[in-house]
Amino acid sequence: MRFVSTRGQSPATGIADALQAGLAPDGGLYVPEHIPQVSLQFAPDQSLADTACHVLRPYVANSALAGRLAGLCAQAFSFPAPLRALSSPADHLLELFHGPTAAFKDYAARFLAGALEALRPPGTPEDTVLVATSGDTGAAVAAAFDGRPGFRVVIVYPDGRVSPRQAHGLECWGDNVEALRVDGTFDDCQRMVKHVLADAELRRRCRLTSANSISLGRLLPQIAYHAHAALAFTHAHATPLNLIVPTGNLGNACAAWLARAMGAPLGEIVLATNANPMLSRFFAGEPPRPQATIATLANAMDVGVPSNFERLRHWHGDDTSLRQAMRAIAATDADIRAVIAAAPERHGITPCPHTACGLHALHRLREDGDHRPWAVAATAHPAKFDSIVTPLVGRDVPLPPALADCLARPRRYAQLAADDSALRTLLLDTAILPGR
Ligand SMILES: *Cc1c(COP(=O)(O)O)cnc(C)c1O
Repeated sequence: MRFVSTRGQSPATGIADALQAGLAPDGGLYVPEHIPQVSLQFAPDQSLADTACHVLRPYVANSALAGRLAGLCAQAFSFPAPLRALSSPADHLLELFHGPTAAFKDYAARFLAGALEALRPPGTPEDTVLVATSGDTGAAVAAAFDGRPGFRVVIVYPDGRVSPRQAHGLECWGDNVEALRVDGTFDDCQRMVKHVLADAELRRRCRLTSANSISLGRLLPQIAYHAHAALAFTHAHATPLNLIVPTGNLGNACAAWLARAMGAPLGEIVLATNANPMLSRFFAGEPPRPQATIATLANAMDVGVPSNFERLRHWHGDDTSLRQAMRAIAATDADIRAVIAAAPERHGITPCPHTACGLHALHRLREDGDHRPWAVAATAHPAKFDSIVTPLVGRDVPLPPALADCLARPRRYAQLAADDSALRTLLLDTAILPGR
């Protein structure tokens, strides 16, 4: 399989180069040259890792990863993604939060880390993985690379603007993970990381790579759980599963779309957004216009310009076709609060604020008389956002074991000015420490 750029000005390349490059040289995003069709059959003993191996095989065919795929999938998909029926029989939750940092990003971050490790020639100097994060991405990437030889992870995040538990989840890892609290906003963090990554000389000296949401290694693995859930559901109910995906950068939604395009029995895909309006405005017929980021209760979806939008447009050819293929339903912070408060009674669960955006979309569909079976992707565990959720439901949310583990470990972090040159200096200093 070869990968081409959405902007059409870069040479086609294999998965290994596309993973290591992140962005294509022309500034576009890598997409597979064609979308492979796989024959998906339900088998009662088929694990999530088996499905992952099956759907990812065409993408790594004839590459250095082909022979390692089964091992990579076994490692990355070692925890389940159960499809749970809610109180009404047609409502379901696809629980993607059973990993080490209790968010769906664990799956792809672990796959990417394993793939980059497998692609490192022996004796290569240390690579530095740089991430700006508003919470979940940084933790998933840190956990995925924690203790992995040959990699240093540098996480940059806005001091005081991530939830206390999210902060702990960024600061509780081993010596190869450096957590940097920036005196500034998430936009400052993103600017600093972008600036540093654009410096070719620094990139080379520190062997910098990024693990941001446009990487194919973050996108493709997410096909697996959508396909797996759809197969099991259709086997049991003889009808396709419709899916609501809480959306920020559109990575998880693009993966669901790919799963369906490859042949998984998925019906409609609805994007659930928060108050950041670009997608709901686009699907209402407005031209896509970049928007300043709005801070909401669903902070991992606080995105002004979804980075994977370019992929969706590429696959659909023109905006009219894209608008026919999908829709977006937005939730305000008031909607999110109301959904969380009502969910224990209405659905028999407690959702995180992101999952609540998905449930809000489900409520709207039901109000419009939609009786089809729907699953909402539950993107994070509610205990991660206890400071929002606990007051609304009036009781503590029990911690999942992985999160309890992480909160029990000591924190390590450094403070950094919101300044590009401060990050640059830090990267250069620590890059030459002996023994690193
Ligand atoms: C990242 C994230 C999202 C948004 O996912 P995208 O792939 O960026 O659209 C939703 N919910 C949670 C909990 C997240 O961490």
